[in-house]
Amino acid sequence: MEMRTKVKLNNSNQMPILALGVWQSGKQTKQAVLSALKAGYRHIDTAAAYGNEEAVGEAIKESGIAREELFITTKLWNDDVRLGKTREALMTSLNKLGLDYVDLYLIHWPVNGYVDAYLEMENLMKEGYIRNIGVSNFKKHHLEDLLSQVHIIPAVDQMEFNPQMQDQELYQFCKENRIILEAWSPLGSGACLQIPAIQIIAERYQKTPAQIILRWLLQKGIVILPKSVHEERIIENANLFDFQLQDEDICLMDALNQNLRTGPDPDHFDF
Ligand code: NDP
Repeated sequence: MEMRTKVKLNNSNQMPILALGVWQSGKQTKQAVLSALKAGYRHIDTAAAYGNEEAVGEAIKESGIAREELFITTKLWNDDVRLGKTREALMTSLNKLGLDYVDLYLIHWPVNGYVDAYLEMENLMKEGYIRNIGVSNFKKHHLEDLLSQVHIIPAVDQMEFNPQMQDQELYQFCKENRIILEAWSPLGSGACLQIPAIQIIAERYQKTPAQIILRWLLQKGIVILPKSVHEERIIENANLFDFQLQDEDICLMDALNQNLRTGPDPDHFDF
């Protein structure tokens, strides 16, 4: 079964279901983005905090791909949320990216001030600087709090989600509220590639462990943001559309959850 490469958001806009993540891509960011665009990726996931928006912008420009074909996500950093500097932060990001608008703007973490930041993002969306707004690292209780105080339902919640870390409560809540869940660290920053059960499934399908994990997420309706700076892995991580996992293998993958985070818990972080 061929899977569509875009998902419809709750506002009817479309978003590519595969993005290149560029956290910690450092000096290799520009090359990685160029490799991804060449391999057919059209969605890039960056953030002000990653310090590489300029490099992403250079790659976009150099690729020559029409702006409307691309889907660019960046994120509002915690200090700017706390200081009420949403507008300034977005303008700085747009300037670094060399863009007039971003396709998706996310609140990076649920720090104090997130409701006001979100309300300002709603304004910036109406002004045309942002096509879609969303959040990141919001658990169910954060989303419930937000939804009770804002006008626009977030299009997306970006959260750590991989075989070892599956927040089922959030997954269900997002489904019920038509919020697309995006998986950050879909490969567990690489750690999940070593899980023996996944290696066994990969052998059966003649695919790599990375492809099995990414395909599992897609079949669950979760958008994926694998990061790599290696061209062959960037290509590998996009070759997900010529096979389908059977239901029993989806169940096997679901059963690997250990609530084991590679990153901080959104209820306990200190930055
Ligand atoms: P991933 O789960 O994507 O894993 C990336 C690691 O796996 C890298 O070390 C990479 O190495 C390696 N890798 C990638 N593909 C393969 C492959 N096919 N075979 C073997 N190894 C592979 O982790 P990240 O933590 O980077 O998360 C992905 C993205 O999620 C980030 O880049 C960022 O965009 C987003 N994110 C968002 C957060 C948030 O708070 N909203 C927090 C963390 C991440 P190499 O590069 O050397 O190839």
